[in-house]
Amino acid sequence: MSKKNEQLQKLFKKVTVRVSLPKVVEGMPLLEQGMLAVLVRHMPQEKAESFIAALKKAYPEWNEVRVCQTEEIAAAIRGGKASRDKLSPLFPPARDAREYLQEVFQKTHGMELDSLRDDPAGNAKALAQMPVLGTAATAQVLALANGGKLPIHPPLVRLLERTGVVAKGGLKKAKDLGEFFPEGDNSTLERVGEVVDRWCHQKQPICQECVLVEDCPFGKKAFQEWKVQQARAAAQREREEARRAVLEKKEQERLAKEAARLAKKNEIIRQKQERETARKAAIDAKKKAVEAEKQKKLAEAAKLKLEAQKAKEKAALAKQKAAEAAKKKAEAEAAKKEAAKKEALKKEAARKEAAKKEAAKKEAAKKEAARKKAEAAKKAAKKK
Ligand code: SF4
Repeated sequence: MSKKNEQLQKLFKKVTVRVSLPKVVEGMPLLEQGMLAVLVRHMPQEKAESFIAALKKAYPEWNEVRVCQTEEIAAAIRGGKASRDKLSPLFPPARDAREYLQEVFQKTHGMELDSLRDDPAGNAKALAQMPVLGTAATAQVLALANGGKLPIHPPLVRLLERTGVVAKGGLKKAKDLGEFFPEGDNSTLERVGEVVDRWCHQKQPICQECVLVEDCPFGKKAFQEWKVQQARAAAQREREEARRAVLEKKEQERLAKEAARLAKKNEIIRQKQERETARKAAIDAKKKAVEAEKQKKLAEAAKLKLEAQKAKEKAALAKQKAAEAAKKKAEAEAAKKEAAKKEALKKEAARKEAAKKEAAKKEAAKKEAARKKAEAAKKAAKKK
């Protein structure tokens, strides 16, 4: 163990590692070694290795896995299609595997990492930002590509400088970082990688949250500046709050005045409306009284007219009855005259009948007398 490595271990001992690096598998291509680092975050290494074997069996090229759906990759890992419920536990490692391949493709424009062996130091710069693979796993792959010695890797150099382990620019002439991260010491690499990935970002390190802030010169200074900034921001917020409070008070006063003015105006309008309503009501009442009087007079006139009409009808009825009585009387008189006339005619007829009978009687007597005379004459003739 070198002095620098010892110093690093001491400095980073308070860092808790969330994910560990896998053990290096002899003969495994670097791309798969990186994949192993991604998968061991979800499962034991042995299982992760079997998953890689399953993917290699299902897909002839890693590029095909890169463009697959998460569900397809999960099915391939499981060894065949299955229900979504059974596949869903495999979605997180499947998604990470695909994103890792996508990241490699974007950084290298290829689907393998063994070409890193041609120029590990030069390629380390290209792999400075590998958020899916992570700093520690990237460093592990780079070290493997460089025969076990970690090449100069920008994120790690930056961290070493910031934490004061090396002076700024002190590694310009260094060929590798083996002195700090000897082969096989995953523990230090994991802790350092954890700090880089979580807090020690290139542009905006989150020193105020970093566990090394009390031990890191850069972090201490940055933290002080951050606190000053926070205090300034808090003071600015307070001033802004006070200013806003004054403005709000003024606004509330203005609104209160406006409300009072409006209320007064509304009261005037209300009173005016009340007066107008009362005036209209009085006019209406007057109109109603006039109308009622008019109706009353009309009703009285109608009543008088009706009474006159009834009197007229009554007189007409009496006149009609009188006419009918006179008519009946005349008719009775006529009937009486007719009866008298009939009686006279009857008497005349009786008289004529009697006269007729008398004449007939006289005629018969006359005929009898003639007959008797004739008979007497006849008898007289006979006697002769
Ligand atoms: S304190 Fe800041 S500069 Fe120092 S290691 Fe942490 S994040 Fe990096």
